[in-house]
Formats: sequence, structure tokens, C-alpha cells
Amino acid sequence: MIAISGLTKRYKDVLAVDDASFEVPTGSVCGLLGRNGAGKTTTFKCMMGFARPQSGTVLFDGQPLTPKTFEKLGYAPERPALYGWLTVANHLELARRSQPAYDDAKTRELLATFRLDGRKRVKRLSKGQQTALGLILALSANPSLLILDEPASGLDPVMQRVVLDLLIDAATSGATIMLSSHQIGQIDRAADRVVIMRDGKVVVAGEIDALREASRVVEATFEFAIPDLGTLAAEMRVERAGKSVRLHANGRADAVAARCGALGAVGVRVLDRSLEDLFLDAVDDGETQ
Ligand code: ATP
Repeated sequence: MIAISGLTKRYKDVLAVDDASFEVPTGSVCGLLGRNGAGKTTTFKCMMGFARPQSGTVLFDGQPLTPKTFEKLGYAPERPALYGWLTVANHLELARRSQPAYDDAKTRELLATFRLDGRKRVKRLSKGQQTALGLILALSANPSLLILDEPASGLDPVMQRVVLDLLIDAATSGATIMLSSHQIGQIDRAADRVVIMRDGKVVVAGEIDALREASRVVEATFEFAIPDLGTLAAEMRVERAGKSVRLHANGRADAVAARCGALGAVGVRVLDRSLEDLFLDAVDDGETQ
């Protein structure tokens, strides 16, 4: 599992990551979400040892990063580090020589899946094909830990789906995966957990289903006026508008809906919230609409 605690990274006057803490349990797929500049790539760089944090700890299966960690860790950076004058096959050969667990059969299969021609020089590959090669390199030794910075960016919708299916397969085989994306639908499809960052801080972290459950809202309408809501008003955030009330039920939507019924509501609805709703609430700074 991956455990991050109190991670802080400052670039001169920019606090890129601010006291971030979260965990990704073994076998989990965790989406890292946040607006541009929220600190996602910096978090990944600190995790991979490519940026030196001012404070905090990063543990992989309970151990800090060492050269040995890379034997089980696959990483695809936002912009894959490729050599333009080398061919696809040259890159795979480099991976084969540097990774003891390099899986030749799997890599060939991935090349075919992504329809990449091994003879092509990288500088002749499209942006999406370069992203695909970066992913193949990250997956080529069947890593049990995968860190992927926007792995599907620049890929066509068919290939995006292929990538998500590959990740789901890897997680099913026990891999622990962390990926960032601006495509919330991709995270919703592939991930079971999410970490949402805003201005370098982790503002939401947890299981997507539990977060969704906790954010369900109850909307109740009364015939004449909103009655005294009793303890409900003290227990949760309440928004009133005319004869209707919205109650942020903090994971107890069904019980709160029943209490509204008992208070004489003529209409009660429980509103489910999407991951996109959660994201928009979490990153809302009141400035943009
Ligand atoms: P995006 O979604 O746009 O990729 P991000 O969430 O990955 O964004 P980061 O790249 O981690 O964001 O950047 C976080 C903040 O740190 C930004 O304000 C950025 O300008 C700043 N930053 C990142 N790298 C550096 C650097 N090498 N030097 C100075 N500031 C940096």
C-alpha cells in the first residue's frame, strides 16, 4: 500500500503541496483529482523521489523509496521521457535490460493492443502514440505499484477505454494504482478511491462509494411552510427556499428522509451526487462559476 503523511513541497513562493496525507490500500485504484496547478504532478514527483519535499513521508508497503522499490513500481509521467531518435523497440530493449522482471510476452501484447510499430522512431510517433509507449514501459515488468500521471491524455476514446481496462485488470491481479486525470468519468470508471487536491491541500480522500453516500442530499417540500425541524437543523447543513428545504444528511439520507416524512412533508426526494458533483463542491473557491 501507499501511505503519504504530511507531505509538503514548496517552490520558492509557491506552496505546491501543503501538508498532504492520504493512503492507497493494496489492490486499490485511486484517482488523484484537482484543478490545474492543484499539486498533483508535484505530489507524484515527491512520491517518485524526483522532487525533494521540505517535509513529510512517503511509504510503499511500509518502506521509504529506495532503488529496489523501482523493481515493483511502474511510473508514467505526464510527459513520457522518451528519446526521439530511438525506435519503439530500442526503448523496450532499454526497459528489458534495466528491469529484472521485464515481461516480453506482455509487452508484445501491449504493442499490438496499442497498434505501435516497433520499428518507428519516437519522433515520428503521434502524441497519443508516445503516451501509449510511456504506458507500455510503465507496465512492462508487471509492477505491483503503478503511478500514472494523466495516463490517458492525448489518447483517442477507444484507447482511453483500453487503458482503463488494463488498469482494472492490473488492480484485479492485486496491483495498487494511483492515477491522475481531468476526465472525471475515467476515474469514476476505473477507481474505487479518490483524493481531491485544492491549492496543494488534500480536501477530500476516501472510498468513492462512501463519499457519494455521505454527500446524498434530502429535499423535502411542505404544504404551507417549513415547520420547526427540531434537532435536524442542529445536526446538519440546512438550506431553506420557500416551502422547501435541502438537508445535507451526512450519510444518513434515508433516516433523514423518513424524519421529514414524519414532520409532514408532502414530497421527499433523496438526491444522489455524482463524482463530478463531489469534485466541483470540493474545488469550489467561490470565484469561478
Ligand atoms: P495540472 O493539472 O495543470 O497538470 P497539477 O495539479 O499537476 O496541474 P503541479 O504541476 O503539481 O499541478 O503544480 C502545482 C504548483 O506548483 C503550480 O502552482 C505550479 O506552477 C508550481 N510548480 C510546479 N512545478 C514547479 C517548478 N519546477 N518550479 C516552480 N513552481 C512549480
